Amino acid sequence: MRISRRSLLGGLLAAPAILRGARAALPPLPNIAETDAILTLPGTPLYESALVSYNKRTTLRPALRIFPKTARGMAQAIDWLRSNAMPFALRSGGHSYEGFSQSSGAVLDTRLMKDIALDGRTLRTGAGATLGDIYKYLGPRGLAFPGGSCPTVGISGHLLGGGFGLLARERGLACDAVSGIDLVDADGRAIRADAGENPDLFWACRGGGGGSFGAATHFDLTVAPIGPMAVYAVTWALPPNEASRLFAAWHDWATYAPDAMTGIFRVSKARSGKIVLHAAGQSTAGEAAVTRELRALTDASEPDTDLSVKTMSWFAAVNHFSGGWRYESGYSKAKSDYITRKLDRAGIDALIGGIAALPSGAVLAICDAYGGFIDRIAPDATAFAYRAGTQFCIQYYAGWGSPAAGTRRMADLRALYAAMRPWSGGAYVNYCDLDLEDWRTAYWRQNLPRLEAIKAKADPDNVFHHRQSV
Ligand SMILES: Cc1cc2nc3c(=O)[nH]c(=O)nc-3n(C[C@H](O)[C@H](O)[C@H](O)COP(=O)(O)OP(=O)(O)OC[C@H]3O[C@@H](n4cnc5c(N)ncnc54)[C@H](O)[C@@H]3O)c2cc1C
Repeated sequence: MRISRRSLLGGLLAAPAILRGARAALPPLPNIAETDAILTLPGTPLYESALVSYNKRTTLRPALRIFPKTARGMAQAIDWLRSNAMPFALRSGGHSYEGFSQSSGAVLDTRLMKDIALDGRTLRTGAGATLGDIYKYLGPRGLAFPGGSCPTVGISGHLLGGGFGLLARERGLACDAVSGIDLVDADGRAIRADAGENPDLFWACRGGGGGSFGAATHFDLTVAPIGPMAVYAVTWALPPNEASRLFAAWHDWATYAPDAMTGIFRVSKARSGKIVLHAAGQSTAGEAAVTRELRALTDASEPDTDLSVKTMSWFAAVNHFSGGWRYESGYSKAKSDYITRKLDRAGIDALIGGIAALPSGAVLAICDAYGGFIDRIAPDATAFAYRAGTQFCIQYYAGWGSPAAGTRRMADLRALYAAMRPWSGGAYVNYCDLDLEDWRTAYWRQNLPRLEAIKAKADPDNVFHHRQSV
């Protein structure tokens, strides 16, 4: 589909496709049918209610928010934005830590594109569906998709950047389960990216990150039957030196455990000064196997809670790990590291000591165990670069309630990150971080040159961009 730019420049369309409100200095709005898109201006209820994003630190008020409903609506909107040289951002779930789905120009907001349908083992979803929308659809059908745990995260940003969840070691990342993507390109054309059509673009869209290569409108996801999950949790509160010893045991175990198990290890500091280590995850191999496997940790150090192992449906496990289904919004910053070879004891001490040196509760370090399925895909088979040999990903996270606390919390976060520099490099594009100097290499390593070549061909005028786009 190719929409003529000139055909869109002329007239204002009658309501209700345009919800009028306070009108900033905008060019004449495009003539898009209500069935293809809704345009909202500041002051209208839809505009105001759509402002919410995960991170209040980065939220902006755009002059115009466009909700495409169809690929045609998306194409018309992109054509108009490009013709008018208007800056814009693409928004799906609005969880970008650095606000890459925010703009003070226009936002192309996919939240009205949430249609989900199943055809055999292929789930077709609109680009505005959340992970929760997808899980709710799949759960009662006994099918699963290997995405992240937060149900309000959007499929678009998540999958385009990789997407790690608690099925990752058994079934791969979210981007490993996509068989095709419908996009609108920089020229306002609806195109397909899959193994047969635009294979380079398909490669780039699996780990290259959102907002660089076009506006995704639909994804085809491969889903598969799933049985019950054995969900586990266990917690320790230990002095730093013992915490380091337990962390070493987790490190020796988690990346090399049977593929059926995927787990995380959350490290923080209690008011008592002790280090709190929380191991949680799930397995498709059953309770006995989990209890046996977890001995790698429970034998290494006596836990402060009983080891809990419970069998539940996959969807109940999704609910268990969800942290709630309400859209959360606060102030936060995240940073990340990939540990790509065995962390020695000094590195582990740097992590635990770095947390011990901060005020209690200031920063969380959440370690996601890699290996398994993630490892078996070649690092150049998709744009997602952290495959074979990757031990785990650390997300350093600080959240706070009021803007005044931000300077202090971000300084804490940066101090912990600085402590880990000798042992790490690399960062996860989905935990985007504007502090990174060489973010291109940190996110994409050896895949960067190919990504840049694909970008130069697909979007030579850099129509799709944000502060860390390819
Ligand atoms: C509370 C929370 C929990 C998280 N949990 C996990 C987890 O378990 N595992 C994990 O791997 N990650 C996790 N993340 C990170 C998450 O995967 C990324 O923040 C992801 O990019 C968010 O996608 P989104 O669509 O919600 O965000 P958005 O802010 O809407 O978009 C993110 C990026 O994608 C682009 N984009 C949006 N829509 C489109 C589109 N239609 N076409 C092209 N580009 C588009 C945006 O421009 C932006 O650059 C979590 C983040 C948060 C805040």
